[in-house]
Amino acid sequence: MEENWGNRREIATAGGGNFTGLDFGDREVKFFKLKEGMNRIEIIPYTITTNMHPLVVQGRYQKGNSDYNLVLYVHRNIGPGKRSVICPSQYGKPCPICEAAKAAKEEGDKATNEALYARRRVFYNVVDNADRSAGVQLFETNIKYFQKPLETADKYCATDFPGKFFPSLKDGLTVSVLGAKDSFNGNEFIQPSSITFVNRAEPVTQFAKDAIPLDQCIKLKSYEEIENIMMGIGGGDEDDDDDSPKIERPTDIPDTESEDNPVDEEPTEEPVEEATSSDTDCPHGFPFGDAVHGDHKECDDCPERMYMSCVKAARKR
Ligand SMILES: [Zn+2]
Repeated sequence: MEENWGNRREIATAGGGNFTGLDFGDREVKFFKLKEGMNRIEIIPYTITTNMHPLVVQGRYQKGNSDYNLVLYVHRNIGPGKRSVICPSQYGKPCPICEAAKAAKEEGDKATNEALYARRRVFYNVVDNADRSAGVQLFETNIKYFQKPLETADKYCATDFPGKFFPSLKDGLTVSVLGAKDSFNGNEFIQPSSITFVNRAEPVTQFAKDAIPLDQCIKLKSYEEIENIMMGIGGGDEDDDDDSPKIERPTDIPDTESEDNPVDEEPTEEPVEEATSSDTDCPHGFPFGDAVHGDHKECDDCPERMYMSCVKAARKR
């Protein structure tokens, strides 16, 4: 038979959501991936309806409010099924993967620690203007290369776009993302190299009803369920990574470039030691450029302007 799989791999099975960690129930979800060149996307808002939304948990935002993304700590590539698992630590619950990451660190097994610790992932409902007939798609990416530059673009957009807030249905803006080819560990992927806004050419209100209520897709697994997913990690199963074909994930950034950790297993500590020798304006004393090369929680609270110069410095390194 002539095989033609199309984008089958990217269509999540109902109730699965193995790649994202989210549980989409019966909903069929299409995943958006950045393409090389200009991507013009619309970020479609949704209404928060649960107490599982991290900003609601933190008391910073409320049910009934609108939101345009969802930021979660997720463990990725867990167990033989290479599943993604929402880390229960961020909800104050014990997490066997965090425990394993911590144990690996204590044993000096840095590689396992890094592989296991939770990264912050960010999810958006988007419409791709190059393919509006595809409707609302799920876009999963990371904080450093997408959400932070997006926030920065928003912070300084008032001059060019007074009164606009990019995710607003009525007064929003098209997000223009320049995708550039990059590679890491031999894997090629598309990295956002600039994020700016342009006025919308067409309205987006018709897509609102199709936006996935992202907070409703957070279904925490029990300690035992997570242990079952982990089965097979370590011991004789380590070879799996080398032998099995790479699963194409609906994401644009390799795991290794990702985010920090809800608990305390910082995977790299060398940059802290470099701080003394480095000419730095970092308010936390890390070498300038560590927003990209380091993995510090503090970077998340860094003022935007400082953060972006830090990212620039990293490119020169
Ligand atoms: Zn965890």
